[in-house]
Amino acid sequence: MTIRKVTVLGTGVLGSQIAFHTAFSGFDVTAYDINDEALTAARGRFAKLVSTYRAEVDGAGDGKAEKSADAIVLTTDLAAAVEDADLVIEAVPEVLTIKQETYRKLGELAPERTIFATNSSTLLPSDLKDSTGRPDRFLALHFANDVWRFNTAEVMGSEDTDPKVFRAVAEFAAAIGMVPIELHREKAGYVLNSLLVPLLNAAMTLSAGGYAEPEAVDKTWRIATGSPYGPFQMLDIIGLNTPYNIMVNRDEDGKKLAAWLKDNYIDKGKLGIASGEGFYKYS
Ligand code: NAD
Repeated sequence: MTIRKVTVLGTGVLGSQIAFHTAFSGFDVTAYDINDEALTAARGRFAKLVSTYRAEVDGAGDGKAEKSADAIVLTTDLAAAVEDADLVIEAVPEVLTIKQETYRKLGELAPERTIFATNSSTLLPSDLKDSTGRPDRFLALHFANDVWRFNTAEVMGSEDTDPKVFRAVAEFAAAIGMVPIELHREKAGYVLNSLLVPLLNAAMTLSAGGYAEPEAVDKTWRIATGSPYGPFQMLDIIGLNTPYNIMVNRDEDGKKLAAWLKDNYIDKGKLGIASGEGFYKYS
C-alpha cells in the first residue's frame, strides 16, 4: 500500500494546511474545492503559508516553500482530483450531510485502491463509513490547527477499517513529519480533546463560579504540573468564540459558562490573542 499521490478535499483553514504541508514533505498533492472563489482563497492561504514556513520551519528557505505551493494542483473537478489518488484527505465543513454527500460521490469516482481519511473533529468514522462504499479503506486522520507547529495526527478507524490501511495511514502521517497518535477504538474527541475539553471546562467553572481568578488557576496549573501554559492561556490561543459556540448548545451548566464568557469577554471584544485581549492583554 504505497501512498504517493494525495488529494485534499476542501481548502479552508485545515485543508490548505494539510495540502501545503504534504506538498512540502515531497508528496504529489491535488487540492479540490467547490468553486473558483474557493480556489482563489486557497491560493491566498498557500501564499500566507509560504511566508509562515519561511519564518518558522527549518528547510523552508531556498525557494522550497514557494515550490511546494506551486506544485499543488488546484481543481474544482472532483473526478479529475481523485482519479489517481492513493489517499484522499477530506477537510470539508463539519456538517454531516455535506460530508456524507462528499463520500457518496467520492466512493463512485475514486479508484478501488484509494484510501479515504476524514479530518473531522467531532464526527466518528462510524458516522460516515456507510457513505464511502468502502468502510475497510476509511478512517479518521485528525490534524491540529497550525500543522507545522502542533504536529500530532490522530489516527482512528472504525471496526471495519482494515488494519493494513490503518498502518499505511499512520506511516504516511509520520512521513510528513507528524507524530501519529494511534487510537485502538473510536472515541469522540480523540485523545487530545478528551483531555483538553474537561480541563478547559473545569478552569472556566472555577472562575465563572467565583472560586479563583483566571490568573490563579493558570498559575496553579503551570507550577504544579510544569506545563508551560495554563488553561486560560490555552483558551486565549484557541479563541473564545470556539468554546462559546460549543457550550451555548450544551446543558444548563454549559449554557452558564457560555453566558459568563459572553458577558465578561466576548461582548467586550476580548476574543483571545487574535483580538489583542482575552483573559490576558497582548501587545
Ligand atoms: P473551513 O470552513 O475553513 O473550510 C472548509 C472548506 O471546504 C472551504 O474551503 C469550503 O469552500 C469547502 N467546501 C464546502 N463545501 C464543500 C464540498 N461539498 N466539497 C468540498 N469542499 C467543500 O473548515 P476547516 O476549519 O478547515 O474544517 C474542515 C474540517 O477540518 C472539519 O471537519 C473540521 O472539523 C476539521 N478540523 C478543523 C480544525 C480547525 O481548527 N479549524 C482542526 C482540526 C480539524
